Amino acid sequence: MTGTLPVVETFHSLQGEGLHAGRSAFFIRLGGCNVGCSWCDTKHSWPADVHPQRRLSALAAEAQAAAITGAAFVVITGGEPLHHDLAPLCNALAAAGLPLHLETSGVDPLSGRFAWVTLSPKAHRPPLPELLAACDELKVVVHGPEDLDFAEAMATQAQAARGGNASPQLLLQPGWDSANGQTLAIDYVRQHPQWRLSLQSHKLLGLR
Ligand code: SF4
Repeated sequence: MTGTLPVVETFHSLQGEGLHAGRSAFFIRLGGCNVGCSWCDTKHSWPADVHPQRRLSALAAEAQAAAITGAAFVVITGGEPLHHDLAPLCNALAAAGLPLHLETSGVDPLSGRFAWVTLSPKAHRPPLPELLAACDELKVVVHGPEDLDFAEAMATQAQAARGGNASPQLLLQPGWDSANGQTLAIDYVRQHPQWRLSLQSHKLLGLR
């Protein structure tokens, strides 16, 4: 098996966010992101070239070991993982026999095959329609009221992109340390039952 990717870190923890929050997962955080979110909590991942190139076979071996010790799925995150062609990584990880989950902003075409796609779109770099069509959950970070308008616009575009197929799961996630975002998201979810609150529970618990 050949091929490498820049890797910031790998770890076995609990998924902290989204519909699969609270489940055991093995994370692969890839280096490289040019989306430039001001609130980003992984800015160290932005430059791809400062992170070691790791062999896909080694990542697959780590995932296999995590599966033996309880991981229910593998999360490919970043950075922006779709800056890379993820097909070779997905092929390599097939050996671990775990479902593959992707967390992406959706600015690049989808590559690889995933059991679950989390799309976290950004207003300043809107996602490609193909990601709105493919995502399983749409998770919008809320800092201010404009983010709620953006969330609804994304939900509408996702519905249109899917040609009438089922909507993705809709989640609002307050920005970390954003008291305003928390109040807005809670109030909005209370009044709009199609949306669900997502909290960064790993940060609340002091997990990775
Ligand atoms: S897309 Fe993700 S990793 Fe990239 S800047 Fe935005 S929050 Fe950070």
